[in-house]
Amino acid sequence: MHDSLFQRIESKREDLVALTCDLIRFPTVNPPGEAYTPCAEFLGERLRARGFEVSYHRAEGEVGDSARYPRTNVLARFNGRAPGPCIHFNGHIDVVAAGLGWSVDPFAPTVRDGKVYGRGACDMKGGLAAAVIAAEALLEEYRDFVGAIEVSGTVDEESGGYAGVGYLAKQGFFSRPRVSHVIIPEPLNVDRVCIGHRGVWWAEVETRGRIAHGSMPFLGDCAVRHMAAFLQKLESDLYPALAAKRTAMPVVPEGARQSTLNINSIHGGLQEDYDGLPAPMVPDSCRLVLDRRYLIEEDPEAVKDEIVSLLEGLKRDRAGFDYALREVLAFQPTLTDADAPVVRAVSAAIEQVLGKPAEQVVSPGTYDQKHVVRVGHLKDCIAYGPGILDLAHQPDEYVGIDDMIASAKVMAAATLALLGGAGGR
Ligand SMILES: [Zn+2]
Repeated sequence: MHDSLFQRIESKREDLVALTCDLIRFPTVNPPGEAYTPCAEFLGERLRARGFEVSYHRAEGEVGDSARYPRTNVLARFNGRAPGPCIHFNGHIDVVAAGLGWSVDPFAPTVRDGKVYGRGACDMKGGLAAAVIAAEALLEEYRDFVGAIEVSGTVDEESGGYAGVGYLAKQGFFSRPRVSHVIIPEPLNVDRVCIGHRGVWWAEVETRGRIAHGSMPFLGDCAVRHMAAFLQKLESDLYPALAAKRTAMPVVPEGARQSTLNINSIHGGLQEDYDGLPAPMVPDSCRLVLDRRYLIEEDPEAVKDEIVSLLEGLKRDRAGFDYALREVLAFQPTLTDADAPVVRAVSAAIEQVLGKPAEQVVSPGTYDQKHVVRVGHLKDCIAYGPGILDLAHQPDEYVGIDDMIASAKVMAAATLALLGGAGGR
């Protein structure tokens, strides 16, 4: 089954590598959101040349969008000979900053030993390229299919996706009846289907004190010491409680099957970017940003209440303690039904292509599925793609070419199944 389709995908190996390299050459670094428009247009014009209807959607008015850094998304649709199910492939075109430690140029892709190296190779331009090749091979093999195939390249996934999938979802582009199934080729490994992600709650906590001369701290009230008291509470009370919360979600890696808390940043006293001699001051403010990841079994309100009750306890028990809490970002967990058609189709295709059963996993971090589910109200959404999860955002990030080919076959076979078969050639 699918011999001719799979051969056609294999014959596109060089095209797939070239497309991946072409996408990596656009330095779509976010923040600030560099080169989005030329990258979106490159992808759009390629698909237009293959018969897709292509439209561009700039998220004007959304966070991050500006004349200098327009948030340009591309959406391409190919209608079959009659209306039917629509399978949508969504890839984010933004990448995180290259960072240090590269042995190759992150934006001049290198092909070596069966791998493509470059920023975004793994997360997720390799996956997006594999989806494009899968769609193109399908259209060449089955020109007469019933239904529709869509491919989108969207922005800002790395910063929450509001101006990307979030924006398109608000316009109705990720809802029924327009779209039936969504596959996001994020790097979750070629043999795994990702059915959801944990929840996220970011908040800034500020402790307040009173300024005074540093030689007479008793005349002031040190906000950093108040923050230290809060940190102590986290260590003694919250961390053990979080470690005890286990989930039934199949989160990978294993360590993320509990609730977690990271302290993203902390700052108190003299401004960080000041490079002169410091003055002796008692800091009157200390700010901390915390990143809480929670489980589908937890109530989002309770997640917030845990922090608030620690802070309220300190306010009661510790002289001079005062605080402010500001929510920065919140996304609820999502979990697609393990029996959903898109999960079954991709799992069956993995087994067919790789000769082993697919593993169902949940991502420790969030990705654009939340917008599809929460804004688009479309539950039939998964992540499936060729990159290795652990390589995302790392120096010398790469994607394996064999993995891209295998995942393109999986995506094409799953699409065919979801479309309801070939429908003639
Ligand atoms: Zn990604």
